[in-house]
Amino acid sequence: MPQATNIYDTTGTVMDRTRPVIALVVPCYNEQEVLPSTAATLGKLLDTMLAEELISDKSFVMFVNDGSHDNTWQIITALHAGDKRFKALSLAHNRGQQAAMLAGLMTVREMSDAAITIDADMQDSPDAAIEMVRKFKDGADIVYGVRASRASDSWFKRSSARAFYSMQQHMGLETIYDHSEFRLMGRKSLDILAQYGESNLYLRGIMTNIGLRTDIVTYDRAPRTAGVTKYTIGKLLTVSIDGITSFTAQPMRLIFSVGSFLLIADIIVAIWVLVSHFQGRAISGWSSLMLSIWFLGSLVLIALGIIGEYIGKIYVEVKHRPRYNISEKLID
Ligand code: UDP
Ligand code: MG
Repeated sequence: MPQATNIYDTTGTVMDRTRPVIALVVPCYNEQEVLPSTAATLGKLLDTMLAEELISDKSFVMFVNDGSHDNTWQIITALHAGDKRFKALSLAHNRGQQAAMLAGLMTVREMSDAAITIDADMQDSPDAAIEMVRKFKDGADIVYGVRASRASDSWFKRSSARAFYSMQQHMGLETIYDHSEFRLMGRKSLDILAQYGESNLYLRGIMTNIGLRTDIVTYDRAPRTAGVTKYTIGKLLTVSIDGITSFTAQPMRLIFSVGSFLLIADIIVAIWVLVSHFQGRAISGWSSLMLSIWFLGSLVLIALGIIGEYIGKIYVEVKHRPRYNISEKLID
């Protein structure tokens, strides 16, 4: 495969694929237990890639403190003082992993050729990051880290993840199976990501929406190096609901379908009610009440479905997503 080098990105600046500047973006929420060892691992990762002449010596780590309540920021500050490759930003309060990653990505966009998002607990394999950089050098713009197995997860997490992926698929949302947030994004895809104006952000969904050249790297997800998961059931649920509602108005369409189905079911109910009525089995008033409840119920649902269809359209409009994404330009 020919080496794809010096491709113009969408803003017209040169993106270097021979010795790219790589930014490792690490969202951190109350991660004081893992940070010292994580910083050592990531520092070593940069050293290794540099020694193999894969990356530029300007490559760095970008920690994003997501409004932690423990000593996370103090530890990051100390790391930065000791080694300027450890850069950081701090969010004023806890906004969740998605927002923290986005803050990091938008900050490193101007400073790097590609960014790799990686969890602070080192569950995602640093070796796989090297593979990602290789795929980027081969021309991929987005490289997904995909888990080879879910052996390190609890039964609950495994089955809820399965249910989540298949529900998303049914709702028509395109995602990569068993890919979490461990991925490489080249500058081109970061520039495109910057144009998505929505505040209900679900990165995994947007990735497949960007449409540039992608590749995958499979890896074994390790258990957390220390500390506990920062995802409460509530947080998981919020991300799942955001994932669906920020990409599709399908649930509202469901209302319309249920209404239409009930309208057809009305015919059967009507026959049953009328038969009961004429056989004299119905007490007075029951027949008319039954008929109107069923009929009006289905009409109300259909009406809600129609309104939902318009709200769905408004929803798509207010998000101000880019209408097209440019992948190459030949204008010089
Ligand atoms: N995280 C964050 N903000 C939050 C929750 C989590 O930045 O509100 C970060 C966390 O520090 C970690 C990553 O997101 O780097 C993944 O979180 P965790 O490892 O707790 O999730 P799990 O691996 O259990 O799904
Ligand atoms: Mg984790």
